[in-house]
Amino acid sequence: MNIRLLLFITLFTGISTHPLLAQESDTFGPSQAHYVWPTEASRYLSSTFGETRAAHFHAALDIKTWGRKGYEVYATRDGTVDRVAIGPRGYGKVIYLKHDDGSYSVYAHLLAFNDELQQLADSVRFADNYQFEIEKFWGWRNIEVDQGDLIGYSGASGIGPPHLHFELRTPSHKPFNPLLTNLSVKDDIPPQIRGLSVEPLSLRSTIEGENAIFTKKAKLKNGSYSFGTITTKGPIGLGLNAFDQSNNVHNTYAVYELKLNVNGEHTFSSRVDSFSYGETHQMFIDRVYPLLKNMDKGFQRLYIADGNSLPFYKTDKQNGVLNLPVGTHHVTITTKDYYGNTSTAKLTLKVSEDQQQKKHQIFTNRNSNPGIVSPDQWNWFSDWVTIPYSQYEHTTIGLADGEEFTEHTNGIAVNLKGQKSIYVNTPETGPLQLYRINPKSTSFISSADQNHFAIFPRQTFYDTVSVGMSVNSFTQNTLTVDLIPNAYPVKEEYAFYTARDSTLSNTAKLSLYHYDQEDKEWELIPTSFTNSHIIGKTETLGHFSLKKDQKAPELRNPRLRQRPDGKWIIYINILDNLSGIDYSKSKIFVNDDQGIAEFEPENNRFVYYHPNFVPTPSMKVKVIAYDKMGNKTEQIFELENKE
Ligand SMILES: [Zn+2]
Repeated sequence: MNIRLLLFITLFTGISTHPLLAQESDTFGPSQAHYVWPTEASRYLSSTFGETRAAHFHAALDIKTWGRKGYEVYATRDGTVDRVAIGPRGYGKVIYLKHDDGSYSVYAHLLAFNDELQQLADSVRFADNYQFEIEKFWGWRNIEVDQGDLIGYSGASGIGPPHLHFELRTPSHKPFNPLLTNLSVKDDIPPQIRGLSVEPLSLRSTIEGENAIFTKKAKLKNGSYSFGTITTKGPIGLGLNAFDQSNNVHNTYAVYELKLNVNGEHTFSSRVDSFSYGETHQMFIDRVYPLLKNMDKGFQRLYIADGNSLPFYKTDKQNGVLNLPVGTHHVTITTKDYYGNTSTAKLTLKVSEDQQQKKHQIFTNRNSNPGIVSPDQWNWFSDWVTIPYSQYEHTTIGLADGEEFTEHTNGIAVNLKGQKSIYVNTPETGPLQLYRINPKSTSFISSADQNHFAIFPRQTFYDTVSVGMSVNSFTQNTLTVDLIPNAYPVKEEYAFYTARDSTLSNTAKLSLYHYDQEDKEWELIPTSFTNSHIIGKTETLGHFSLKKDQKAPELRNPRLRQRPDGKWIIYINILDNLSGIDYSKSKIFVNDDQGIAEFEPENNRFVYYHPNFVPTPSMKVKVIAYDKMGNKTEQIFELENKE
């Protein structure tokens, strides 16, 4: 090695306590700073860094607290309190510490802060009209903590069951894997491989004859996995469903590294050390989105999909896309956990001759047979759609002259690339124009009758997609809106505008809702009314409806409890039929003493919290609760102290 270079490296690591944080380097190496384990609860993890969450990557380690609350939480390094926040969702009660190298540590889902911070937070909340929610940047207060100091107690505030979410961030708030520091867990168990996905990456591509996403379960034999032989045609992309485990606990984790080799050549690898919050929604395209959405299974793509700019990957020139010549190819997929425990899966790809594609002009097939499924169920891809034969029978499709389509065993693949729009008419949707939307520019689409429209700003989608809008209105305040197909992840909020019925005068308690297919419930979306339009704002495609919520929430079952930190609280169950609880307006008094109405949406309950609350033999509990449409419930309970 060149001596000058060696000297430079020595000097550099000598002055930087944390090379990870040097500039905004994309190279992440183990930190030099010393961290202490942040809780007494356990040395075990319930989640690792980079796992799949609803709409992002998990940015931390989740430390097991055995389903209980109240374990001590410690400062991992010396630092100052940068920020505290309390809220009903996300991180719940959370502390952010700032360290001398500019980096941060984050402790989330707490039950409570330490006495000093809790008193400070409570005084702010009481002064602010008994507000539950706060977010305070307290760097200016210069509240110092030493490494190992008690800063709070573990809990279950925000999302999820009891655990400690422990997150480390660079000075520019990029989360990085805490295992890159001196912190470690015991893990000598290799990852387990569950399944393989194969995606067709052109309308000519097939897997076992079908132009559809193919999945196959792994077979384990003598410690290694096999997917057998799969017959394909045309360009494809592989994906792997795998998980890791560590010693002594049953939790399953994300794997740390994935590698794809084809005929002995490296084609793709991925390693999750860090990402930025601006990129975290790209989880949707790092994973096979349709399988995530429909099966709730995280297949990690072994190629880089269009629109993916995450820093995890090293690939060949094809970005991991396999466009292999006719013949037999040997594929090896290797996955590792953070400690280098490795599992391998083998697979043989038999690539067959690409058939001649057929040209067609306009085809029409109609009959009156009802019971057809929505175009949502077709196989939608960025550049084409494959329509099952059973559906195709009932569908009219209008295409420009000379557009190609290809017959597969599972349906007919219709090219969308290069088209401005495509016309479809099914019994389910009626006439529908699907427009091509390029994420590089703002796009405008309208319903077939031109009365309703949606505007997709630049970058609403990751890739070029085809979207149509179908609106039905029967009476003045019934309205359903479908943005079809619900097959593409949405990156940014967009708005749709529906023509307002001229006879609709009273819009009180009316709002648009999105139907969440997974949770099977309606969720309120931001809605506004102009003289001519009803406007909805959303971050998803799918089914929307205008609904009136005139029913107040219901209160039930007040009960006294003592928290693990000794504080007395009262739980009151609350249920709302539609719009959801407006906790910011809700109030709770016990014996005429107003406390803070903390709201736990996952448990459908309020918590009466007052730092000085001491139960009396008989208590008068008065609750004033609102839903988001302003419907109000006021109720007084007599509560006996049976504790
Ligand atoms: Zn977490």
